[in-house]
Amino acid sequence: MLEIKEKVSQKPAQESIINLDELNKSSLKRSACEPQMVNRWSVDDIVALFELPFSDLIYRAQIVHRENFDPNAVQVSTLLSIKTGGCSEDCGYCPQAARYHTDVENEPLMQLDAVLTAAQEAIDNGASRFCMGAAWRGPKQRDLEPVLKMIAEVKAMGLETCATLGMLKEGQAEQLKNAGLDYYNHNLDTAPEFYGDVITTRTYQDRLETLDRVRGADINVCCGGIVGMGESRNQRAGLLAQLANMERPPESVPINLLTQVEGTPLHGTEELDQIEFVRTIAAARITMPHSFVRLSAGRQSMHEGIQALCFIAGANSIFYGEKLLTTENPEAETDKKLFAKLGIKKI
Ligand code: SF4
Repeated sequence: MLEIKEKVSQKPAQESIINLDELNKSSLKRSACEPQMVNRWSVDDIVALFELPFSDLIYRAQIVHRENFDPNAVQVSTLLSIKTGGCSEDCGYCPQAARYHTDVENEPLMQLDAVLTAAQEAIDNGASRFCMGAAWRGPKQRDLEPVLKMIAEVKAMGLETCATLGMLKEGQAEQLKNAGLDYYNHNLDTAPEFYGDVITTRTYQDRLETLDRVRGADINVCCGGIVGMGESRNQRAGLLAQLANMERPPESVPINLLTQVEGTPLHGTEELDQIEFVRTIAAARITMPHSFVRLSAGRQSMHEGIQALCFIAGANSIFYGEKLLTTENPEAETDKKLFAKLGIKKI
């Protein structure tokens, strides 16, 4: 095992962290707030992890996991869609994009009371973090005001707070921080090379800039992506390289398995082999040893044996609750039974 570790870590970086040619093609906008990247892991290094025999990969992930976390503890969050549907963006996987014909309707922002009721349910189910998601390109100031109130009130209930509201403009991250926001979720979704196949209404660089604003306001970063969108293994590794090479890797790394929704462009994509999904979790754990790796969307389609393998591979965070924004998620009771079978405790 040590031999593998040395071989992998001694390989020179062979691919740049951001492929500038590709990004320029997709209307890259350079700005002064471009985030710092370091060359901790090359894409080739990470592909080499994916190519290990499964048992060796899992063993290595377990070692890293046990060095950094309690292997039998999983952090539990609840995600609530506070503003559903009608989004102007064109993310090819998302049923909330107004341009796709799905069952999701455009709804107004939820009222504060209803959000606090959901937060209380999250507490009753043992969640420690409450994440509020809005289907916006980014919040306008008039949208942000009521959300700031929600964050302050949820925080006052004793929950950690997280929000995912789209791209942030200058000064908005500071307002969220002042309201009591602990985490901001903004995913990179995939590798830069594949990104333009999935989204065209915002660039990779736009996303990096929002992440930089979040970091600049001293809010914890929750950032990951989606696999099973038709990307190659190299591109899965490319996503992980982007995350692992951030100057400070995200504190929370959601790895989603595409939930295919009829009416979205990615419906009908060839499904990702679930062992490959477990490999992705293990590679995320090895490359980001101090991050919580979150088993996110797609759990509904996974046998509990696969979920158990994901926990062994280093996943140590999940979403509780029967809905993940608009798609199905295992019910809290099902998760409680699985945790009991596996001897996992919640944090
Ligand atoms: S993923 Fe977010 S930004 Fe993209 S279409 Fe869906 S709600 Fe809009």
